[in-house]
Amino acid sequence: MPSRKFADGEVVMGRWPGSVLYYEVQVTSYDDVAHLYTVKYKDGTELALKESDIRSQSSFKHRKSQSSSSSPSRRSSSRSRSRSRSPGRPAKGRRRSASQSREHKEDKKKTIQETSLALPVLVLFKPSENNTKRYNGEPESTEKNATSCIILEQKLKPDLEIKRVLEQYSLRSRKDDKKKEEIYSEKKTFAAVKPIEKVPTKTKELEFGGRIGTFMLILLLPATVFYLLLMCKQEDPSLLNFPPLPAVESLWDGRVFGVILLWFFLQAVFYLLPIGKVVEGLPLSSGRKLQYRINGFYAFILTAAAIGVLLYFQFELHYLYDHLMQFAVSAAAFSLALSIYLYARSLKAPEEELAPGGNSGYFIYDFFTGHELNPRIGSFDLKYFCELRPGLIGWVVINLAMLLAEMKIHNLSMPSLSMILVNSFQLLYVVDALWNEEAVLTTMDITHDGFGFMLAFGDLVWVPFVYSLQAFYLVGHPTTITWPVAAAITVLNCIGYYIFRSANSQKNNFRRNPADPKLANLKFIPTATGKGLLVTGWWGFVRHPNYLGDIIMALAWSLPCGFNHILPYFYVIYFICLLVHREARDEHHCKQKYGLAWERYCQRVPYRIFPYIY
Ligand code: NDP
Repeated sequence: MPSRKFADGEVVMGRWPGSVLYYEVQVTSYDDVAHLYTVKYKDGTELALKESDIRSQSSFKHRKSQSSSSSPSRRSSSRSRSRSRSPGRPAKGRRRSASQSREHKEDKKKTIQETSLALPVLVLFKPSENNTKRYNGEPESTEKNATSCIILEQKLKPDLEIKRVLEQYSLRSRKDDKKKEEIYSEKKTFAAVKPIEKVPTKTKELEFGGRIGTFMLILLLPATVFYLLLMCKQEDPSLLNFPPLPAVESLWDGRVFGVILLWFFLQAVFYLLPIGKVVEGLPLSSGRKLQYRINGFYAFILTAAAIGVLLYFQFELHYLYDHLMQFAVSAAAFSLALSIYLYARSLKAPEEELAPGGNSGYFIYDFFTGHELNPRIGSFDLKYFCELRPGLIGWVVINLAMLLAEMKIHNLSMPSLSMILVNSFQLLYVVDALWNEEAVLTTMDITHDGFGFMLAFGDLVWVPFVYSLQAFYLVGHPTTITWPVAAAITVLNCIGYYIFRSANSQKNNFRRNPADPKLANLKFIPTATGKGLLVTGWWGFVRHPNYLGDIIMALAWSLPCGFNHILPYFYVIYFICLLVHREARDEHHCKQKYGLAWERYCQRVPYRIFPYIY
């Protein structure tokens, strides 16, 4: 059994969990059985660390932490960055696994990490040849470290803990700051600090049930869409009343496929129009920022004009209603072909352009989750294009077709109140998404997930054909609601929308510009990556307030369909499952990114989506 290397009371350098930063710590005790040192950081945090996460002070060039107003230029000049990086937005970074760390070491690039947060003592790794070779600015295994860190301080009472966190991390309202200068120096710090370096990675932690799960999903997702559409056509769409299967040849219609191709072509043309501003996405881990044209809302207006012209010339839009199944089949075939193309081209993509979550080396898994992060043909970004345009605008067009079909089939002079509500609520949702198109650039879909079957099918088939289910249902199953009920449902939708929009805007604005004066009253916990975690406002209410708002709206979309069948509630049930799963994925990523700061955020904001419930 190896003897302990560091004595009680010895001042050494201890690694901060989940990061590559070392801080001055004092050894307070040693556990002979677990071979763990209990160390105390200067801020009072006590952690149990493995010996491999502790270094003697002599192996570091030591520097006291700078004030938060230390100049960014000085910081950047002292940082040398590795050329070897993983794809994906740094903010969505994943903790490196042992093998990833090994790859990084092999790369033999010097990485010096730095942060200027109000954490105890800042050290720069001394790039002596010996040390560089061994650690390369990165300890042997971050993965191992994270599991070896036992957070002793969790024993503290929550209130005391929060108070301590507030003091420890200078958690404060910027409104309270007396000097404006100080505020700006802090903001500068946030803008200037670069996230932790990453290297090209292999995806080790498989999501969605791994290879078997993703294989099943590739079969299950299209089957679900067809089942739902068949059910909706049933006179009695109860779960036990399984619909008769249509003849296979009736599912394919060449003309319908032509319309689908035309639709994509039209949306692609709108996307390429040189109207709308061009913005930069969040930095990739290479530091590069991709450019995106923000013209989704214009595409919507142009599409609306085109549909208006078609209607003016007596085009029967309820053709969509009559052939909805064939449209879904054609869209699914298109999305499958697109996924195959995406996977094939991803095989030639450089390693640094692969998605952090879709690089497992398993064909089926990478095919499903998406192998390449930002596949582009020239400046045409395939994922960004599909994310909000053909599917989302297509959803509104299908809804409109259902409204017209209802009027025609039931010989109505105006649509039913239920249909009006469903159409209006969902139109608001789509217009909002397109109006705030820039916000999509900070979502998990763009920054973390690759473009594969999951997003191709989701964007192009699932969204337009499943999300329009309520309108489709109402055509075959007229539902009468009273004005007071309609008013109550509208209020519910407005509440959901308000929460959804203000929470998303609050976070997006904070991420894009932490110095935004409109956010001056918000408090945040700084993290070792340089980004803050909001703990007041919507993000102090629950950890995913935007999901809460979205779910409330989903309920409001189903309620106009009455309570005769569960089918129109499929969306809200599925959506809760989706967002609970998505929330868990995001929590996992955030825990890896922010380590202890995330745990403290969770202590401060204990509920994930539903206050006092979950
Ligand atoms: P979110 O917009 O919820 O973003 C999650 C990220 O926000 C985290 O990874 C973290 O990223 C950051 N974050 C978390 N907590 C905080 C905090 N306290 N302070 C500041 N930043 C924080 O992710 P999604 O992409 O999942 O959702 C975007 C929107 O899209 C939501 O409104 C959702 O409801 C909606 N949506 C709709 C779907 C649909 O089918 N209709 C499907 C999926 C989502 P970082 O720190 O790196 O910035």
